[in-house]
Order: sequence, then structure tokens, then C-alpha cells
Amino acid sequence: MKINNYFSKNFDNKKRLINSIKIIVIHYTGMQSERESLLRLCDPRSKVSSHFLINRSGKIYRLVQDNKIAWHAGKSCWGKYRDLNKNSIGIELVNKGHQFGYTNFKKKQLSSLITICKKLIKKYKIKKKNIVGHSDIAPLRKTDPGEKFPWKLLASKKIGIWHMNKPSFLKKFRKIKIKDKKDKIRFIKSLNHVGYCFLPNNKFTFVKVVKAFQRHYRKELINGILDKECLIIAQNLSKNL
Ligand SMILES: [Zn+2]
Repeated sequence: MKINNYFSKNFDNKKRLINSIKIIVIHYTGMQSERESLLRLCDPRSKVSSHFLINRSGKIYRLVQDNKIAWHAGKSCWGKYRDLNKNSIGIELVNKGHQFGYTNFKKKQLSSLITICKKLIKKYKIKKKNIVGHSDIAPLRKTDPGEKFPWKLLASKKIGIWHMNKPSFLKKFRKIKIKDKKDKIRFIKSLNHVGYCFLPNNKFTFVKVVKAFQRHYRKELINGILDKECLIIAQNLSKNL
């Protein structure tokens, strides 16, 4: 695997211990072009960066060394981790994103991503459940890498987790409202077990987390409403961890 160095200075001066790397966060760049994205991730004024960037042809750039803390996650939470920059590797995929014309990720781009994730997982012993999207760890602020990102495909390569339910089975439960409060609590507990963080009593937060969950695991309908299909998926994910 060829990696092109294109160094950014946007990282903490302090080195981190290799065993503090626990999570891989996947992003899209959400900008008009690859060039613009590279410039921004390397511009000291932007104060953002990531460890890697993968363009549409699958070319990989290393922007920040793994042992440095890059600035990609921002205020975020996953399981017991808070503000994940210090515990994670950030990978940016070139894609215009929801704002400028969201498109499917390219095959070559995904195949480079898979190669690099496999290496990182092995090197840092990263758990499957800790391979996440930016929206999973910052659901109030972020929607990347978005619903076009093929989490199921990655999970089939042992990158990230996926549920065991058949789509034809699940579909029957779509839009069936959850009325029982206990079911809502079951859903929240399952999501907490998977890693999602939220304040259960805040309605706004709840809707945003449900949306992030749907973007990742139930992309056919992203409405922020908890239905029975979402509950079944969440319980299945949690049970199989
Ligand atoms: Zn992001």
C-alpha cells in the first residue's frame, strides 16, 4: 500500500502513547474538491486535520503521524471515551457531502479504506465496535460520513459491527411506533452498550442520536423517530457484542 506524505501541522505538540489509540473515526471532507480539502486540513488557521485522507481514486495521503493527536473529532463521546481526538485515528474520505452534492463513495476509495483499516486494527488492536463515523460520536453536530457510507460492506470485512437480521424481516417493523416506555429504555440501553452517548431526558438529543443510529444502521428511513425496526436492530447489535 503506497502512502503519500502531505504533512499538516494541525496536531497537538505532545506525543501520545500508542496504546491510547482505541478508535477509528471515519469522515467525509464535505468540500467542493480534493485540493480544497487538502489545503484546509493543512492550513494552520483552520485548526482541523486528520491522520489520513483518501481521494476518489483511492490515493492515500498521510497528513499526521499516528502518534500525534490530530484535530478531527471535536467535542465527542463514544462509550467511556470523551473528546476522542486523543484516542482515535481520523480518516477523511473525499466527498462533497450533504452540503455540496453528496455522492456514492468510489470502489477504489473504499478498497483503500479497507486496506488501511485492516492495518490499523491489527497494529493497535482496535475493537470492531470502535470503528465509527463522525456522526456516531458527535450526533448533535455531524452527519458524516453519511447514509451512503457502506457500513455493511465494511462489517463483512470485519471492520465495524453489523446486525444479524435479514432486511426482508426487518422491513415489516419499519414505522411501527414504539409506545411502551420500557421499549424506549431498552433501546437506549442497547445503544449505550454499542457506544452511543446521550442524555435520555433530552428530546432534542434523543432525536439526533436516533438519526445518527439510522444513518449508520437503517439508512432507508432517517427520520429521528424510534420505531420497532430500530429497536430490533439495536437489541441485536447489543446482544452480539
Ligand atoms: Zn467529520
